[in-house]
Amino acid sequence: MSDCLFCKIVAREIPSKKVYEDELCYAFYDIDPQAPTHFLVIPKQHISSVAAVDASNSAVVAHCFEVIAKITRDMGIGSFRVVSNIGEQAGQSVFHLHFHVLSGRDMTWPPG
Ligand code: 5GP
Ligand code: ZN
Repeated sequence: MSDCLFCKIVAREIPSKKVYEDELCYAFYDIDPQAPTHFLVIPKQHISSVAAVDASNSAVVAHCFEVIAKITRDMGIGSFRVVSNIGEQAGQSVFHLHFHVLSGRDMTWPPG
């Protein structure tokens, strides 16, 4: 999608600090970290949010979770939070599906 920030990050039109990449997904550090470790895992294909997941694209979403498990295992992170905001009221600001992975501090519940 030509006007999508994260599609531009995938295409290297906008620089990012890579954590992991394969043919289906890309992971990179958040520019405004909310925890000592905060990175984003995104599908390379444009999906606008969790609300747009269906049978045609759910395999790549499952793959994103395999990647989250692999990255955190490789980083030696045993406790972390995965967040995906859907829609503006929930705090979504980039409308390309992404999973925040946050770790390294105590987390509160319920989230704000
Ligand atoms: P959302 O608000 O949609 O849940 O999450 C979007 C995230 O993308 C935010 O945490 C924000 O800091 C991050 N972000 C926005 N622009 C950029 C950017 O250009 N580079 C990186 N690495 N992260 C970004
Ligand atoms: Zn996109």
